[in-house]
Amino acid sequence: MTDRKRMAEELLEHLRLYRDLGVKWVEPPSAKRNTQQCQQPPEELAPPVRNAAAAQSRPARIVPPVISMFDNLPEKQEALESIRADMGDCKRCKLANSRTNIVFGSGNPTADLMFVGEAPGASEDAQGLPFVGRAGQLLTKIIESIEMKREQVYICNILKCRPPENRNPESDEIATCEPFLFRQIASVKPKVICALGTFGAQTLLRTKEPISRLRGQFIDYRGAKLIATFHPAYLLRNPGEKRKVWEDVQKIRDYLRSLGLPGS
Ligand code: URA
Repeated sequence: MTDRKRMAEELLEHLRLYRDLGVKWVEPPSAKRNTQQCQQPPEELAPPVRNAAAAQSRPARIVPPVISMFDNLPEKQEALESIRADMGDCKRCKLANSRTNIVFGSGNPTADLMFVGEAPGASEDAQGLPFVGRAGQLLTKIIESIEMKREQVYICNILKCRPPENRNPESDEIATCEPFLFRQIASVKPKVICALGTFGAQTLLRTKEPISRLRGQFIDYRGAKLIATFHPAYLLRNPGEKRKVWEDVQKIRDYLRSLGLPGS
């Protein structure tokens, strides 16, 4: 890739990050700039579509970390508490009418590993905590299978409120809620993001590829590595697929170890 192309890609990725953080407009640094060229906010940028089919046909590669886009964010890192405070008693989408509690996320605010699920279920809605039901117990075992403790990682969901009857998240709900997720990712700055299940993976990767084709591949994602795997709730229904998840999380463990990270 030429330097010019690489620079253009880095710039695009940077703008996408700001868009996903909810930034509508970036001030030009100098008044001398031609403001005519800066009229459009970065909202119109194409989403980061990945060629999942090609990724699927390749074995997972462990690539050394690239310069983190997070390093280019303002020095003062947004704290998870302030993102939660900003969410407040959220009524931005229709799920507010039926939820009991907002399920923001839990765990280590500086975790190297972050799990992103779909949406709270009944137990999570009742307790205000992610992954505390049966699927959550299985997630804890998955985490422990790579010699990590649940408290070491950060866990959250695409949606912070339970959809009625655990129905699938709807696109307007995802669009409303995802800026909070992107801000959480920028705050925690994990080295690895593990997307759990179809909605986690498809939302983060901006693709409609099925999880069966996305899983198990490391994908560069804003200075982190993203890997998708099956959702623990799916494993409860299809225990024969557990082995694939075990293989995926072992890749995560090996990658974290390759970075020499403590506790991995
Ligand atoms: N399933 C999810 O995707 N998230 C939870 O928090 C619980 C179950």
